[in-house]
Formats: sequence, structure tokens, C-alpha cells
Amino acid sequence: MKTQIPSVWDVEQARACFPVLQRMHPNGSPLAYLDNAATTHKPLVVLEAMDQCYRAYYANVHRGIHFLSEESSAAYEDARIEVAKFLHAQRPEEVVFTSGCTGSINLVAHSWGNSHVGPGDTLVVTEMEHHANLVPWFQLAQRTGAKTVMVPVLQDGHLDLERLEAILATGPKLLAISALSNVLGIANPISELVLMARQYGVTVLVDAAQAVAHHAIDVGQWGADFVVFSAHKMMGPTGIGVLWGRHQLLQQMQPFLGGGGMIDEVFRDGFTAGEVPTRFEAGTPPIVEAIGLAIACREMSRWFAQGVELHVRQLVDEAWQRLSALDGVSILGPEADARHSLISFTVEGVHAHDVAQMLDRVGVAVRAGHHCAMPLHERFQIAASCRASFFGYNRLEEVERLVEGLRESMVRFRDRKQVGRQRTDRQRTDRDGTGKKIGDQGQAS
Ligand code: PMP
Repeated sequence: MKTQIPSVWDVEQARACFPVLQRMHPNGSPLAYLDNAATTHKPLVVLEAMDQCYRAYYANVHRGIHFLSEESSAAYEDARIEVAKFLHAQRPEEVVFTSGCTGSINLVAHSWGNSHVGPGDTLVVTEMEHHANLVPWFQLAQRTGAKTVMVPVLQDGHLDLERLEAILATGPKLLAISALSNVLGIANPISELVLMARQYGVTVLVDAAQAVAHHAIDVGQWGADFVVFSAHKMMGPTGIGVLWGRHQLLQQMQPFLGGGGMIDEVFRDGFTAGEVPTRFEAGTPPIVEAIGLAIACREMSRWFAQGVELHVRQLVDEAWQRLSALDGVSILGPEADARHSLISFTVEGVHAHDVAQMLDRVGVAVRAGHHCAMPLHERFQIAASCRASFFGYNRLEEVERLVEGLRESMVRFRDRKQVGRQRTDRQRTDRDGTGKKIGDQGQAS
């Protein structure tokens, strides 16, 4: 169903803040960037804050006595405070800076996993997880002799919640689940699932890689133990992500990576680990990136307050209505009402890569492939899909261009196939030498 309330979001004002969106495709068409689930572009405020840091007060953090180091250390720690505010965390120490969402999950799988998981234990994942939220748990299971169980996805794209509860009732050690699927656009009911998991004493990690860019997050309301995300999917820079963990849990965990910054003291034959969160931040951290992320958090919060969610919802609704009306296009997952931010689809008889390539020719950038969710694609018995993913700077007119581009590619592909078929027929006829098509003689393979 279409959303009736008109959006008050000023998309043109938002677009003006993103230099790259002023670019044209090399073929001269304007750029319709619909690959935001892979990564979003960066607004001037983020670029300028990072540039300013390098120009004015850049130095390594927590190490120097000199004023530059003091200034950059203060900015780095202020960034942590800003991220904590963004997540509605109780204290900044609960925020660990990592290399990204993948880095955060690997950190938990080692630091928490190695000391909490043993032979015979169960780790629960879901069929809709990104590889980043699967492989580290498979590796943990391999290391420790635990096993992994996958919660199935139903035909309509929703998780099989009955099955999930039955699995939780067996008392697994962990539930690792995404808040918003990067293929189906489905939001899982995290608060309810955490409550359910709590009854059985299950630790919960929430992959918020997609969710973080589409609605405000309150880690207290979710009630999970760990929440992870990357900055680059919410206007921030690459190379930095966040692990939020309950303070008490983080304090019980040993460091994952060793090196500078994470120690208290080092002796000839050992070391003592520093406090939380620095004990998890070995080596020179992503200083400038943390400053960029802090600005991105502020900007995202401002966008949420200005109603960007409704705008993205309208884009998704429109895209769903238009795509589902196209013959030969199949949409993965639920109806428009139950989805957020993105639409993955297949086109009958055309490989997803060919569709994406043809769309690129008309300046529409979409993703094609398995989107790092091979088990989910296997579940729907497809090798690949195309994904159009939206962000606050996308125009309604870009949905139109996606649909038009798709329609054109389907026609072109059909024509090409027809020409190909005619050629094959001609070749067969020539080889036969009788002037008759082999098919006419009933011998075609
Ligand atoms: N989880 C989900 C749901 C994702 O969409 C992604 C990125 N595509 C990741 C995890 C991994 O994020 P990153 O590559 O930034 O570590």
C-alpha cells in the first residue's frame, strides 16, 4: 500500500551536500546511485571535518605529550561520546572503534567466543545473514568444537520465528542476527527476539550494518549484548566501525588483537591489558575516521529528526509498486509494507550482472550478485539477484529511471535472444544443406 502522508524531506537540499552526486555518468546521463546498501556517499560536513583534522590538529592519539596529540586525542574521545549518544548507550566506554562491522563481529567471535563457547555448544545464526555474520561463527565453531544452527527464512522472506523460539529453547550460547536484511529489506523484531533469547540465557549480537542508516537506534531498547555496524553505510568513512557491548561483558573479555595502545604494561615475558574500550583497540586507531564517523552520526540523527525515513519509505513503496507490475521481474521477500530501504529482484531469463550492466549504461547504479548472502540466495534457488537500495538523497525520479532502464534492458535482451535464435536456426539450416530447418525435421536438440 502506498504511504499517504507526503514527505517533508527536502531531497534537493540533501543532495547539494554530496559532491559526488553532482557527477554525470561517463555516457552523459545523470547519476542515479541506487547502491547505498553497499556503501553511501559522504556529505561535505564529513569530508571537511576529516580534512580539517589532517590540516589543523592531526597527530597520533594517547601517546604524545605535545599539544597536537592532546587535541587529536580529545577529538578521538569526543567522537566516542558522539557515537555513544547516537546509539543511546549508557556510557562512551561501551563503544569500541574497530575496522568495520566485519572487524567488530570477528572481535566478539574471538574475545567473547573463545572464553564462552566450548565443545557441543550451539551458535544460532539465520538464513538471511550477511557472510560477515556467518563466517566468524563458523570459524568459532571450528576452533571450539561447537556447532552452528541456521534459522530458516520463510517463502515471504520473514524469519521462521516459531522455529527460532524452538531453537532458543534448547539453550544455545549465542544468537547472531541482523536488524535489517541487506537482501530482503526485512527488519527483524529485535527487542522481542532479545526478550525471548533472555528467557533462555542466550547472548545476542545484532548486526546493525543496514539498520543504522535507516532509523535511530537505541541499544537499551533493543536490550542486546552486542551491536555492530560500519561507518561507511551511514555517510561516514571506510576503515572504521563500531562494536557496542554491555560494559560488564566487555570487561570480562580478553583483547583480540595485541600491540600498542591495548596494553596497561608489558614485561619481558607478558603483558597486562588496558581498560575497556582501549584494550580492544590495538595499534594506531582510525583517528581521522572516528572524527568523520562522529559527524556522520550527528548528520544521521539530524536526518532522522527531519523525516528522512518517510522519504525512503516512499521511494521503496514506489519502486515496489512499479517493479512488481513488470512482467518477468520477481521481487525477493515481502510486500512493500514490510520492507525497508531496498529491493532485490531477478529478471526472468537475464543474469543479474547483465541487468546491472544495462542499467549502468543509462546511469543507474545497482548491485548484482549474491550480496554476500549465498545461503539466502540458495534458499530461494537463485545464484544472484539485482539490488536497488535507497538513501535520503535519492529522488523519486530515480525510481522512474530504474524502471524505465529495466524495461529497456528486458526488451533489448529479448531482441538479442531472438536474433541469436534466428542465427542458430540459419546455421542449422545451412549445415543441413536441404534448405529446411533441422527443427522442421524433428531433429533439433
Ligand atoms: N552485515 C550486513 C547486513 C551488511 O550489509 C554488511 C555490508 N554489506 C556487513 C555486515 C559487513 O559490513 P562491512 O563490509 O562494512 O564490514
